Amino acid sequence: MEKQVRASDLVGCRYRLVQRRTHPEVPRTDAAQARAARYDAAREAVWEKFPRKSDSRRRVFRRIDLGPLPAEDPWLRSLETLEALATGATHITGAVFTNEKWLVGVDMLVREGASTSESSYTPVMVSTHRVARKHDSVKILGVPTHRLGLSEPLELGYKPRHHVLDGYHLAMAARALEDLGLNSGRGALVGQDQSLAFYSDTASYQPALDAALAAVEPANLPTQPRRVKECASCRFWPLCEPELKAMDDISLFLPGDRARAYREDGINTVQGLIDASLGLPSRLASAWRDGTVLLAHGDITMPRADVEIDVDMEAYMDQGAYLWGAWMDGTYYDFVTWEKLGSKAEARNFADFWTWLMEQRDEAHAAGKTFAAYCYSAHGENHWMRMSAQRFHEHTPGVPSLEEVNAFINSGEWVDMFVHVKKNFDGPYGLSLKTVAPQAGFNWEQGDFDGEESVNARRVAIGIDETAMRAREMLLTYNADDVQATLAVREWMSDNAPGVPRL
Ligand code: SF4
Repeated sequence: MEKQVRASDLVGCRYRLVQRRTHPEVPRTDAAQARAARYDAAREAVWEKFPRKSDSRRRVFRRIDLGPLPAEDPWLRSLETLEALATGATHITGAVFTNEKWLVGVDMLVREGASTSESSYTPVMVSTHRVARKHDSVKILGVPTHRLGLSEPLELGYKPRHHVLDGYHLAMAARALEDLGLNSGRGALVGQDQSLAFYSDTASYQPALDAALAAVEPANLPTQPRRVKECASCRFWPLCEPELKAMDDISLFLPGDRARAYREDGINTVQGLIDASLGLPSRLASAWRDGTVLLAHGDITMPRADVEIDVDMEAYMDQGAYLWGAWMDGTYYDFVTWEKLGSKAEARNFADFWTWLMEQRDEAHAAGKTFAAYCYSAHGENHWMRMSAQRFHEHTPGVPSLEEVNAFINSGEWVDMFVHVKKNFDGPYGLSLKTVAPQAGFNWEQGDFDGEESVNARRVAIGIDETAMRAREMLLTYNADDVQATLAVREWMSDNAPGVPRL
């Protein structure tokens, strides 16, 4: 087990480093292995794009490939890196720098300067992040990946997106080059757009690296776990959980920074919080301890109408909304497109949904009835109703204007259920639909189908084969379940949420 830290040890839980050193035998989780495989594939694809030869006889080109990363023997590779640098090579792939405290693998070192005597090197790192986004007014230096070291970078209309891990990688590489008197002062990142490398000033990352390295000095490492978000997917959870339980650590109930104020007051255990009798926080801690999911503030209030519709929308990343599902009088209505998003098909689909919804509303009004459409946490629906109006109103009949959409959203006829659930309840496990609906007796037909799975399923569903058809079916079932869950929650709330203890 190497004792040096890597950049990945500097982000997130620092107790992970302690566990990794104490229990090197614990294998990585399947998810972590899949992530590593994705990173290796990205790295391989980018290395394929790195320049292989010069485009001009006058330009010296000497590329040395030291081997794949991570290196099997980092110490040996670091010696080979020094040798390669000493030759004045213009491109060095698979470099490693190491010292007593840390080590870093560098995808490629690119020589700057025309001659060996005046040369310095720029580290190039591959990242699976989106490292820059197109932008109208911001510009940063970049160069096509296949021209790295062959062309001077140009100002490109992109805005950088900083990721802490990428910053540490570049900062470590630059620091090692600085020690050798070879630091160019800049580094380059190739991210999700593998065809472009974006430059940044590596000096700006150094203070953060200093702080992060100080935090993993042995004297500063934590001696016990504390539950954080990443515990959910950490390979050491089976070791940390019993430790946390034995300590009755408050982070079991309030992970991450959420317990900070109580710790400052000397409350470090769940029982300590219960015993402190601090009102709601203590009640919630006690509810968490005995597995009570919800606590009600008193009698439940829930607006109802004569004509009621439950709505749920599914979108694919930031590309568009492909499914508007609605539940009315025991029937599920799906307005769906499997075609490219941002297209006429998406516009027409939204127009159909909106027209149908407004027809139901108009008919209710004409019959002298009240109308309400319900949605659980309407943030996404509001966003895509507005975006659809902005993108499609001008050229697609049936798509409302932004003003019409805003008028509907701000009317009392569009009801965000989450707002009403929050007004009426508190709960130690949060108030998501997935947490609340089972209390109302509703269970999902599809079991656990979370947001990431739904994104994956949509990617599959745009095909035309049998797998695609199954994915479509799954997405529709998921959506139909969600609208029925919303209905179940509001009916149960109208019955005054039987069985829920009052605060
Ligand atoms: S399980 Fe949590 S506390 Fe333990 S090492 Fe992993 S992230 Fe850290």
